[in-house]
Amino acid sequence: MTGPALPQALEVLQRVWGYNEFRGVQGDIVRTVAEGGNALVLMPTGGGKSLCYQLPSLLRPGVGIVVSPLIALMKDQVDTLRQLGVRAAYLNSTLSPAAARTVEQAVLTGRLDLLYIAPERLLLPRTLEWLHRAQIALFAVDEAHCVSQWGHDFRPEYQQLSVLTAEFPEVPRIALTATADDRTRADIRQVLGLQRAPEFVSSFDRPNIQYRVADKSTPKQQLLEFIQAEHLGDAGVIYCLSRRSVEETAEWLQEQGLPVVAYHAGMPPQDRSRAQERFLNEEGLIVVATVAFGMGIDKPNVRFVAHLDLPKSMEGYYQETGRAGRDGLPSTAWMVYGLADVVNVRRMLADSDAPEDVKRIEAGKLDALLTYCEAATCRRQLLLSYFGETLPEPCGNCDVCLNPPTVRDMTQEAQMALSAAIRTGNRYGSAYLTDILLGKDNDKNKRHRHLPTYGVGKGHDVKVWRSVLRQLVSLGYLTAGPYQGLMVTGRARGILRGEVQLLLREDTVKPRTSKRERAQATRVAIGAHDRPLFLALRAWRAERAGQLKVPPYVIFSDATLKAVAELRPGSLQTLSTISGIGERRLAEYGSEVLRIVRSGVHEEQRRPRGTVQAHEFGLVPQDITWETLAMPRLSETPPPLLTVQEEVRVPVKPERPVERAQVEAPPAVVTAPVEPGVVREVQQERTPPAPTALASPTLPSPALAPAALKASIEPPEVSGPQPHPAVMTALQELRRELARETGYAAYVVFPNATLTALATRLPRTMAELVGLPGLGAKRIEAYGESMLDAINTELDD
Ligand code: ADP
Ligand code: ZN
Repeated sequence: MTGPALPQALEVLQRVWGYNEFRGVQGDIVRTVAEGGNALVLMPTGGGKSLCYQLPSLLRPGVGIVVSPLIALMKDQVDTLRQLGVRAAYLNSTLSPAAARTVEQAVLTGRLDLLYIAPERLLLPRTLEWLHRAQIALFAVDEAHCVSQWGHDFRPEYQQLSVLTAEFPEVPRIALTATADDRTRADIRQVLGLQRAPEFVSSFDRPNIQYRVADKSTPKQQLLEFIQAEHLGDAGVIYCLSRRSVEETAEWLQEQGLPVVAYHAGMPPQDRSRAQERFLNEEGLIVVATVAFGMGIDKPNVRFVAHLDLPKSMEGYYQETGRAGRDGLPSTAWMVYGLADVVNVRRMLADSDAPEDVKRIEAGKLDALLTYCEAATCRRQLLLSYFGETLPEPCGNCDVCLNPPTVRDMTQEAQMALSAAIRTGNRYGSAYLTDILLGKDNDKNKRHRHLPTYGVGKGHDVKVWRSVLRQLVSLGYLTAGPYQGLMVTGRARGILRGEVQLLLREDTVKPRTSKRERAQATRVAIGAHDRPLFLALRAWRAERAGQLKVPPYVIFSDATLKAVAELRPGSLQTLSTISGIGERRLAEYGSEVLRIVRSGVHEEQRRPRGTVQAHEFGLVPQDITWETLAMPRLSETPPPLLTVQEEVRVPVKPERPVERAQVEAPPAVVTAPVEPGVVREVQQERTPPAPTALASPTLPSPALAPAALKASIEPPEVSGPQPHPAVMTALQELRRELARETGYAAYVVFPNATLTALATRLPRTMAELVGLPGLGAKRIEAYGESMLDAINTELDD
């Protein structure tokens, strides 16, 4: 991997992107294309495809032309590039004619590095004409599988891209896709003239995604518990099969207090794009959607993807779950499915009027998916083997690896169940068969009570029989007949004759690992110690993103913020070593980030001893702790005496008139320059030291006199500080107003614990809001300013 173009490529990679090295095959691809060669790139979602054409575009003279079918995505890509200092633009139907002409001019005069363009636009004779007058570095065809009728995203315009080969034979072409089957590959090569181009394939493994599948019993409740235990405050996508279940699920989760939007193809287009927009721009929003949602969702910090219904195929499952964790941080792919789902999809397939050969292919795909669902071996190994890849060892990061199910010889049980179906005429559904097996009288089964199978399965409970029946359907021994009936298939003969031994998994009702352990395994692993700083950085990022009208991740990724919170760089030099901080971002945001880091260090030092349990605020069930709630734990080390060098205010609201708070109220925040070593008196009446159990890690004062410091670490008075009555009233009024405005229930806007903490702690700056119970970055972003206004108005009057 030491071609001539590489040293220069590495230099650009570090300077512009701030990445220290190429990922996998990226370096080879960049060299090939930078040297003028063609390439076919197969990489999973999140693998890092964009860099493969963006970087060569910077290395070669002229502009890189990127064909992309996803208009919604172009702006995002361009925004991100501009943040890096790359001269990028897009051309699609959303631009006014005047704006489009400006872009054209920029191309013709060599003032652009990258141009994103919709295929139908590129193919206009006019466009091709002016492109001939421009200097072109390369053509990149993104989502190249759209050329193939074989695939599910076929776009006729894509087939006409063959003109590029004819009209610009000397310009290198690079095709990129995450869909890898042979037929699609062949189509791409043929249409884009890449017959002799080298193929670069990177592993489809997504090691940061944890795969989990569970038996469906109370799906919504199971989902809620999963989110509460492991992903509170995280962005996620929940897939349901039907529009109705999308709406019901979204509504129900909303009632449970989660920030949720619905998305399905039946909604008016403006509602759909608004939902998508909110998902991209807000932190921690959950989308409940049909599979219509996702194409072109490039949000890197989606922390979980949940399936409440079976996906259509392994391809679908891989693609949908692949939307989690594009940033490489730990994420979860979670699914529940049950007997009814299996029966339904089998019947839908049987009933469809597709040609027989199509049905056979579909049935094969469904079998593969069901085998995956019922797996008693590593799920990742199965998933990858489906895509032709071998993972030599079990992964250690799927539910089967983490919590191996018990596999038992259930041949006898299978025989009982199968014979119950046969003896009742292959006409009854699972509930009926279960009653027969258990010998349970019901109004309808009188005529079957004499059967030898009646009551033969009393040794097991309903759950076991449901699980056995589900696995028999999944494995193809039973199939869905007309109505609700289950029919025994020819495949079952061996079992009935006792020639085949059947090993089935016991559904683990209770996972053996504790919730806590799992939560820690999957949460973005930020130590409790670094969490406050991470949250402060996130609040700052949200603020900046709002100003620039771009999604937050365009400014910095979560991975970068996490690294900053952990490393706590003290200089621009150190900051620049962090992955994701290139030249431009360093210049743009470096000093702001350093300021937050420095104030974060101070916050840390001022923390009193002690720990806080979230349930003390009545917020959450007892087994959820600060860590799972994304809340900081108080520092264990005793706070050293302070020397205050500078203001501790997080500059999230630079335009905020802080002076008012200092002059007219006791100095909750010291902003005047203070000489090192000089310590100010803190006036106690307005900002009493909170009792240990209620103390937020962000104490309101940066400069505690030794006496005050001592007071703050001593056990609380019996009564403790009381909420300020007038502030309490003002905040209650504010909450009512916000509830009316947003349509959320008041406790969804913010819980009582937050209300009380605000009225007790009386924060005066955005920084002091961080870490208060119930105040995550999202609520701070949404309501922080109004909260501070309410408090300040009340106290300053
Ligand atoms: P794809 O288009 O293949 O789905 P992207 O190009 O969007 O993936 O990249 C996914 C994520 O990986 C992005 O956040 C990107 O910045 C990051 N990334 C890409 N290449 C590297 C690299 N060499 N080092 C670190 N991060 C990278
Ligand atoms: Zn595994």
